[in-house]
Amino acid sequence: MYARRMVKLTKQIDDSVLVTPGAKSNLRKRATNADDIFDDREAAEEATKENAKAIDALQDALWAERKRALLVILQGIDTSGKDGTVRAVFNRCGPLGVQVTPFGKPSDEELAHDFLWRIHMATPKKGVIGVFNRSQYEDVLVVKVRNLAPAAVVEQRYEQINAFEAHLNDTGTTVLKFMLNISRDEQRERLQARLDDAEKNWKFNAADLEDRKLWDDYQKAYEVALDRCSTAHAPWRVVPADRKWQRNAIIAATVRKALEDLAPQYPKPDWKPGDFKIE
Ligand code: AMP
Ligand code: MG
Repeated sequence: MYARRMVKLTKQIDDSVLVTPGAKSNLRKRATNADDIFDDREAAEEATKENAKAIDALQDALWAERKRALLVILQGIDTSGKDGTVRAVFNRCGPLGVQVTPFGKPSDEELAHDFLWRIHMATPKKGVIGVFNRSQYEDVLVVKVRNLAPAAVVEQRYEQINAFEAHLNDTGTTVLKFMLNISRDEQRERLQARLDDAEKNWKFNAADLEDRKLWDDYQKAYEVALDRCSTAHAPWRVVPADRKWQRNAIIAATVRKALEDLAPQYPKPDWKPGDFKIE
């Protein structure tokens, strides 16, 4: 019963959020709310909690098996909810099983290497779920919008990213990519809340206002990245993210389904409990 419901829900989600490889992403036409999928907030929040629990159990088996890894990439402009997603989806997992890596401005050392160096170093080892808060995509997003590298260099990166992700996939790491899609109005409200709410003041960064001025450029850069890097081995999902509970419900269900498809197995011991006697 549950399994059938889950398959139906994740299919409904994917029909609406998946960027079909080879097709245009049409980012500008995509909804920033998922009212067509979820109308009952309480039920969605309950489902997210259940899915977070299931993700923990699946992660346990993934670790016991130690043959595959899962990499969850979260991309989105400032205030899109990357941190909140990590909290909602992975809060039941043991801290040993999930490795979260935020990517900020590269250090001198990182800049002295190729752009994928720091990314590859942070990919999860077998048995672990890796979560990227920002990722290699910054190198075709902020870098493109702010002209931090020559256009010809950025141009090559889409294929380099595709080849890198194919390599990860071929060597046992499943890659799930989520773009958290919020509206310009929603971003205004969330930035304003960081000014108005004393407990959120620490999140306010005046530089975010500079990026907000470049909203259209970022949207265009995202659109190109989605168009060119949604592949069969690592497709993009554009998650309507104006409502946090819908965003969490979509991502938790999708991560759970991906782990269930991997179906990690506990290894069978090569001994019998009766072989041992504990004095
Ligand atoms: P935050 O996620 O708010 O902590 O901010 C991290 C900042 O680092 C964002 O402004 C990103 O655009 C920036 N950033 C991340 N990756 C890169 C990169 N490869 N090159 C330049 N800036 C980056
Ligand atoms: Mg920021």
